[in-house]
Amino acid sequence: MAKKDFYEILGVDRNATDAEIKKAYRQHALKYHPDKNPDNKAAEEKFKEAASAYEVLSNPEKRARYDQYGEAGLGNGGGGGGFSGGAMSMDDIFSMFGDVFGGHFSGFGGGGSRGGRRVQKGSNLRVKVKLTLLEIAQGVEKKIKVNKYIACSSCDGTGAKDSSSYQTCSTCRGTGQVTRITNSFFGQMQTQSACPHCNGEGHSITAKCTTCYGEGIVKGEEVISIQIPAGVSEGMQLSMNGKGNAAPRGGVPGDLIINIDEIPDLNLKRDGKNLLYDLFISFPDAVLGTSIEVPTVDGKARIKIAAGTQSGKILRLKGKGVPDVHSYNRGDQLIYINVWTPQNLSKEEKSILEKLHGSSNFTPSPGESDKSSFFDRMKDIFH
Ligand SMILES: [Zn+2]
Ligand SMILES: [Zn+2]
Repeated sequence: MAKKDFYEILGVDRNATDAEIKKAYRQHALKYHPDKNPDNKAAEEKFKEAASAYEVLSNPEKRARYDQYGEAGLGNGGGGGGFSGGAMSMDDIFSMFGDVFGGHFSGFGGGGSRGGRRVQKGSNLRVKVKLTLLEIAQGVEKKIKVNKYIACSSCDGTGAKDSSSYQTCSTCRGTGQVTRITNSFFGQMQTQSACPHCNGEGHSITAKCTTCYGEGIVKGEEVISIQIPAGVSEGMQLSMNGKGNAAPRGGVPGDLIINIDEIPDLNLKRDGKNLLYDLFISFPDAVLGTSIEVPTVDGKARIKIAAGTQSGKILRLKGKGVPDVHSYNRGDQLIYINVWTPQNLSKEEKSILEKLHGSSNFTPSPGESDKSSFFDRMKDIFH
């Protein structure tokens, strides 16, 4: 029996690299795989030929002997063991696949469902949830109505008209897979593939549900309660498993993806977990001191303005910020003090101020103004 040259079988050059040989074999194995060529003896033969060629050419020692002596160099006396005239079993060939295809190779038949019944997955749904600062600071439960595919209530999502028309597939006995055993030159060969009778679903429907036309899903709506944790922020995504669209005929539902949308607050500006508040006080209040109410996420808070407070001073309300979404730490509320400079004065007010004009107390001395400089305040915030 005239044997073909191993290089010819794989269609590679005599000085092909290991990578080229591996690639060529992979292509041959995919093309002539028995699952892709059922009951095709010629393809099966090519599949085995390619495996035998690869078995030799992928092994440097065997390849060297083959190059020098041809197939005779691989014979029983060759000392290398293993190859002796082409008797590679299907098991040998498939065990070689882990190396060639990267470990998880398992064939073609099931189209990815080889591990079991073919189960459909519903699609994911996206919703946007608008939240006020208060809701973000405290966390909130939102109930929203979602339009989506839901399981058909007439058939319980099975797609069958009634229980007698929903039958476990007799061909695969509900597993969704069939095992084919064929006798070949190398003995019995066992391959698994999706059951052709039930299309891998494990059951068949003899009469379709008239409400959903056999799909098992219908358009509907669901009120979903979403627990929003405190501290979320704009653009964040939360996901709820199984709250997306229902899947056809009793498959796995998709997920609900929730996009967070922050409604800006009129008074408090968010900076991460801190909140910023701009406070304007009058010149007399800054000079004489006072106490003022400011808004916080916990309601109003009264703060003390010390006599002689400079414009630009920052007061800190510890723990009045937003919680960190990943921990229980809460940020602070920072209050920026602005001293309001009046723009419209009566004659009397104007004359009072003019009298004060020359007073040395109204002009900053260099050492004192440094203490409330911009840079000094920044140090206080970002220490
Ligand atoms: Zn139905
Ligand atoms: Zn079946």
